[in-house]
Amino acid sequence: METLKTTAEGVIAVKAKEVRAFGTEAPDKTLQPIKINRRIPTPHDVEIEILYCGVCHSDLHTARNEWHGTVYPCVPGHEIVGRVVSVGKHVSKFKVGDHAAVGCMVDSCRECQYCKEDLEQYCEEGNTATYNSPDRHLGTQTFGGYSESVVVDEAFVLRVPENLDLAAAAPLLCAGITTYSPLKHWNVGPGKKSGDSGYWWFGAYGR
Ligand SMILES: [Zn+2]
Ligand SMILES: [Zn+2]
Repeated sequence: METLKTTAEGVIAVKAKEVRAFGTEAPDKTLQPIKINRRIPTPHDVEIEILYCGVCHSDLHTARNEWHGTVYPCVPGHEIVGRVVSVGKHVSKFKVGDHAAVGCMVDSCRECQYCKEDLEQYCEEGNTATYNSPDRHLGTQTFGGYSESVVVDEAFVLRVPENLDLAAAAPLLCAGITTYSPLKHWNVGPGKKSGDSGYWWFGAYGR
């Protein structure tokens, strides 16, 4: 499989390879082993061997098409932690062997007003979610972390401190940040009260 992609450095050929994943073919089917395509890292990409992936309630809603719009096969998972196994030639923030993580978003247009303000989640073209979004490289849907590896632009890859328990770190990538972000935004600290509006995907972090 090969597609062409226009980048800031010109048109590049994007190749893909098959990797193993757990996915579902239909809303009423269970997850089962399937093969998916992952691109061969382009110059700004980081290839991560996935060691842990949290299970978010969004994964279940999407797998079962409860929010509608699920494209099958569907491979959920957006609480990804792993080890860098290869990097593109322009990658500067990661090297082979680093611990790395990927959350709910893997790409965006990079050019609109929101992307330029580091608010890619509000991208005018719509951000590229880690699964069930149009893949900007391969033209398929994106596939999540219930898989052996993932390839993501370094701008959307997070560093994981070496001393952090990797399994415990995985839920930080969705439930953790979703809880932490409003606490930080509203300066919640000692002496202030906060409430959890009850969304399931906050899980234990909301309490
Ligand atoms: Zn989630
Ligand atoms: Zn944008």
